[in-house]
Amino acid sequence: MAEALNESHRRFLQTMMSQGILEGSMMRKLHKHCCETYKVDYRHDQLDEFIKNINTHLQPLFMQIRKGMNEDNGQQHYALINLAETEITRMAFDYTETELELFKKTMDLVLESENGMVSSTDVLNLADQLQPKKMKKKEVEQVLLRFVQDKWLCEKDGEYILSTRCIMELEQYIRNMYPEKDCNICHSITIQGQTCEVCGAKIHFPCAAKYFRGLDDPCCPKCKQFWPHEIPDVSRTEQSMPPPSSTPKMRRRYHE
Ligand SMILES: [Zn+2]
Ligand SMILES: [Zn+2]
Repeated sequence: MAEALNESHRRFLQTMMSQGILEGSMMRKLHKHCCETYKVDYRHDQLDEFIKNINTHLQPLFMQIRKGMNEDNGQQHYALINLAETEITRMAFDYTETELELFKKTMDLVLESENGMVSSTDVLNLADQLQPKKMKKKEVEQVLLRFVQDKWLCEKDGEYILSTRCIMELEQYIRNMYPEKDCNICHSITIQGQTCEVCGAKIHFPCAAKYFRGLDDPCCPKCKQFWPHEIPDVSRTEQSMPPPSSTPKMRRRYHE
């Protein structure tokens, strides 16, 4: 029998609804904050229980707070996922039909790419292929900015990747369109990672870093053939923010 939700759960859920996704450490802070504000029992090791209780109440609404991993640095995130919709309909409140079409086409470019990214130039070139009406490159640029602000895409040096939120939220949709993208270690979907050249098995960078750590002779977990890729160093990717003194990187210029 699920415990009734109290004010602390409600506050927590409201924040999740407005944020969409939170990093693990922020989630723990939010849990503490909500419990302390409403003077309910707080135990730091009870976050999963707290979420499980909320999830029981979200079930009839086909929603769930779910854990996922940032593909870049392996950090844990929590997102409020809508289970009822396997299409991109969740975004339909915020975007026009043409903008959704742009998002779908951008996502396709990412999913069909080798490295899980797409250049801004390639996205801008979609402008005149869009339905029901074409967009100007300037408009595409603005919509791309909104996709980033709304945490559907992330931008890195003029390249776009799917955000952790996007991957978690649209996991089922992506699976239907692109099977064979599961990570051989954590079994979540892999957009950015390493691929076995023999059997095509995929592994996230952070999962590869953990799995192959300290092995002299790394082998594919699936076909046991030699793993030819450089073993990623996750402690390095966690510090991937440039130091403040470094010169800003050149951004790729858009071609009008
Ligand atoms: Zn993985
Ligand atoms: Zn293999």
